Amino acid sequence: MSAIIEAEGVSAGYNAMAVVHDLSLRVEPGEVVALLGANGAGKTTTLLTLAGELKPLEGSVAWKGDTRWTPLFQRSRAGMRFITEERSVFMSMTVAQNLQLGGVAADDCFKLFPELEPLFGRRAGLLSGGEQQMLTLARALAGKPDLLLADELSLGLAPLAAQRLLRAVRAAADEGMGVLLVEQQVRQALTVADRVYVLQRGRVMIEGTADEVRDQLAKVEASYLSGIPAEPETAPAPTGRTA
Ligand code: ATP
Repeated sequence: MSAIIEAEGVSAGYNAMAVVHDLSLRVEPGEVVALLGANGAGKTTTLLTLAGELKPLEGSVAWKGDTRWTPLFQRSRAGMRFITEERSVFMSMTVAQNLQLGGVAADDCFKLFPELEPLFGRRAGLLSGGEQQMLTLARALAGKPDLLLADELSLGLAPLAAQRLLRAVRAAADEGMGVLLVEQQVRQALTVADRVYVLQRGRVMIEGTADEVRDQLAKVEASYLSGIPAEPETAPAPTGRTA
């Protein structure tokens, strides 16, 4: 099957300093791919590069087979959704207004998360963290994207709330969406992932199916403990966004 997004030999970073090195990674339709690694390993930088928020310093990213760089807003129009680490709901607006602003039908969202229906008129700022993330995810999934990039969807959430979100992501992937999921909670991520990449200091250290990575869990978790942040290296062609 052809990848919906594919990075080949990508170096990426900030102000021409690479913090991600020689990264090759692909996501196919219907797959949940987990991108794991310690704090500072380069996960968010990788997502930003795939999303079109950063230009690769080296290598190529093919989005739907096209290696030309396009910014996120254009990729969004073509079926990419990017959920960033920050909660992206408008806190002073109601659930209904948040959905309207996202351009999605409330009914589609309630099919995904019936829990949101009774909260329709409530201001998002008054929702629990889990409910806010449900709203964020509902908005992203109801648009039926081809690819979802999600950065720490379950950050700060109780395991049950995190599972709820991850199950919804899995269900959407089962209908054909590709997913690249950055997660701190390795074991949670492995319950829904098909394949996994583990980054250490900006490089892929382990790559395999979820079953293969489960067998190396001790090694993965050890990499978190020795997780020294990615070493910046000067890259030859400074084409990236300055951040
Ligand atoms: P975390 O799990 O803590 O979010 P991460 O794996 O997502 O970490 P990144 O956020 O990609 O890691 O960071 C990789 C490296 O890039 C780190 O050393 C970080 O300090 C550095 N970095 C991140 N953002 C910037 C920036 N805007 N400018 C310069 N360096 C940055």
